[in-house]
Amino acid sequence: MNLQELSAHVAAEFQKTYGRAPRYIAAAPGRVNVIGEHTDYNDGFVLPMAIEFYTIMAADKRPDGANIVTLRSTSQPDAAMVDLAQPITPTAPKWGNYPRGVLAGFAARNITPGGLDVLVHSTVPLGSGLSSSAALEVCTGTLIEAVTGKTIDPIEKALIAQKAEHDFANVPCGIMDQFISALGREGHLLLLDCRTRKTELVAMSDPSVSLLIINTNVKHELSGGEYAERRAQCEEAAAKLGVKSLRDCTADQLEQGKAKLSEVVYRRARHVIGEIERTTHAAEGIRSSNWPAVGNLMYASHYSLKDDYEVSCPELDVVVEIAEDIGAKAGVYGCRMTGGGFGGCCVALVKADSVEAITKKIIADYKAKTGIDATIFSSRPAAGATIIKS
Ligand code: ADP
Ligand code: MG
Repeated sequence: MNLQELSAHVAAEFQKTYGRAPRYIAAAPGRVNVIGEHTDYNDGFVLPMAIEFYTIMAADKRPDGANIVTLRSTSQPDAAMVDLAQPITPTAPKWGNYPRGVLAGFAARNITPGGLDVLVHSTVPLGSGLSSSAALEVCTGTLIEAVTGKTIDPIEKALIAQKAEHDFANVPCGIMDQFISALGREGHLLLLDCRTRKTELVAMSDPSVSLLIINTNVKHELSGGEYAERRAQCEEAAAKLGVKSLRDCTADQLEQGKAKLSEVVYRRARHVIGEIERTTHAAEGIRSSNWPAVGNLMYASHYSLKDDYEVSCPELDVVVEIAEDIGAKAGVYGCRMTGGGFGGCCVALVKADSVEAITKKIIADYKAKTGIDATIFSSRPAAGATIIKS
């Protein structure tokens, strides 16, 4: 379903739920990070793209004029109610906290939509690492813009969304997910400098390539400390190398300072420093449609995450091995794990006209090797959040 068909579907669902047509419709996409993993908290670069999967909100003013926002989601049993006359704080149901946080952020800027009936629907799979949470937040912000007629700087909207995720959902995320959902442009990736927040659109104009998102459908339970441990190791490396963050350290400087670091901390730093460089190189490769070069950077990213950063898992590695077996001749340029690791998705750069054959092959081989069914989507770089009806 394209975005127009999807909004018609959501409008019909709104009609069924609330007994009238919606006056406002807004959408915001999920995302996949093409390269630049575990670089965000090291002041580095990330290179995400918005995907053709969206969270859509259809809404109308409340007929009774009450200053209450009611949100219903097609994926949740319980409605979320937000009384705009009261201070907005986190409460049950959990899913409602993402939009609550955004309503609170806009209210703090004196922008309130007034009482609304809202229906939420998402084609971004929930909890698969494609950032349905950022899509939900950014969609809420975009809906508020549609209703009030006041548009804010998309960077400010992304920051309100990030703060909602921090303060209302208790997830200490970086800026990538909300930035790409708010700022994405069709046919472009977004090179984002996590230090300065400077963004640069990177055109992927060659229609002969597409991205495949391969969900391993596994999520390994961790003791919980892995993410904090990696962050601490990066901070330790930076401190011992005498730099503010690993962004400030070159590969040569790391080699010169190697003796100051434990073997593990050295490898963690080697991943981050290499990955930051790979990310800017990949942006150049995409601009010049040098797909073999971009693909090789993706493979290098994967092996660095696997061996140096140690955040991969057997299922992610199997997908990358299958991709390498298929090879460039049969349409796969590169593949890597994407997201925090220990499960979730891989992203592959592929020839658009081979998507079907590659999908079949990965599903069959992954099933044969792991016994698990993978879920695969393909997407070209999609547009960021948009007002569809206002
Ligand atoms: P991801 O962002 O990778 O999809 P998260 O765990 O960060 O995973 O966010 C998923 C959560 O976001 C869901 O459990 C739910 O609370 C909320 N959410 C996302 N999309 C929707 C939706 N369409 N309707 C209701 N809740 C949603
Ligand atoms: Mg999320």
